[in-house]
Amino acid sequence: MLRNTVPYNGRRACMRCRWCVGFACEVNARTGTHNTVIPTALATGSCELRTDCMTKEILLDSAGRANGVAYFDASDRLQRQTADLVIVAGGAVESARLLLNTRHRLFPDGLGNRHGWVGRNLQSHSYAGATGLFGFDTFDDLGPGASIAISDYNHGNPGLAGGAMLANEFIRLPYQFMGQVPPWVPRWGTEHKEFVRDAYRRTIVIMGPVQEMPLADARVQLDAKVKDHWGIPVARLSGGRHPHTIEIGRYIATKAEEWLKEAGAVHTWKRAPAKSLSGGQHQAGTCRMGTDPKTSVVDRDCRIHDMDNVYVIDASVHVTNGGFNPVLTILAKAYRASERLLQGWKGTKARS
Ligand code: SF4
Repeated sequence: MLRNTVPYNGRRACMRCRWCVGFACEVNARTGTHNTVIPTALATGSCELRTDCMTKEILLDSAGRANGVAYFDASDRLQRQTADLVIVAGGAVESARLLLNTRHRLFPDGLGNRHGWVGRNLQSHSYAGATGLFGFDTFDDLGPGASIAISDYNHGNPGLAGGAMLANEFIRLPYQFMGQVPPWVPRWGTEHKEFVRDAYRRTIVIMGPVQEMPLADARVQLDAKVKDHWGIPVARLSGGRHPHTIEIGRYIATKAEEWLKEAGAVHTWKRAPAKSLSGGQHQAGTCRMGTDPKTSVVDRDCRIHDMDNVYVIDASVHVTNGGFNPVLTILAKAYRASERLLQGWKGTKARS
């Protein structure tokens, strides 16, 4: 759950409030790069953090080697920063956008995009599950909420490629419950309000992050017309979900419903993914990792195939996300890639 259960590293223990999802942690118990690795790096004295900046492009010399970045500082002034090594870690949408916005005579379609893979296979997780209404109160009001999970359906589901873990959901705020009313209850009006009042404390949601099948047409591209505040082309997302993702989602929802019925729910209703593009939370896939430069963007160490000194280290390199939240995979991969970099890095001419 990435939170301190006891005081650790100068941060307090979780007090089990109900604001874990979507809000800052009031006691700093929840883990993020802002309260773990960034302070550790700053404490070495070798790291400088520049906030409120926006990278425009990676700078390349005439031979196509990266030698820095151009970025807008907090006062919107365009700055150049020379660099030996550039590591892109903007998430699957912004990392792809930055590579596509980095053009050069040798890379006319964007950095790492010689074979057109940058921006493709945008995916995330398709949440599927079920809600159960019980004849008694089930709401303990203790955050973060999820307290039991099973991995029985991540793999080996008959006729399906992949699956999801299943867990009871994070604590629901009343406004979040509005979207979880059953299909036979109106979405507004007196009947809706009465149902919410009556059922809010008597429901349990079981859900799981369904692994999405990569789809080349699910893409991040640059918008031809729209630019952001700094005049940089914005990302344009297109495509949808693979039909097999929807099939897996329906299966996982059935399993969640079975669990709730076994637990004594008097009514249950399912939730399965739709065809529309995913790619919001848990976004991944747009700079896929692989050994063949013709079918991938980065190698097994997260280095862009075409480049000696540009790396992408975030979920963009996931070929699939698997059926779990992806953060531990991202962390493991980042530590692994960093370790390999430290072992093998000889520097470039840019330093001198
Ligand atoms: S439930 Fe989440 S937000 Fe609340 S104290 Fe614990 S870690 Fe922090």
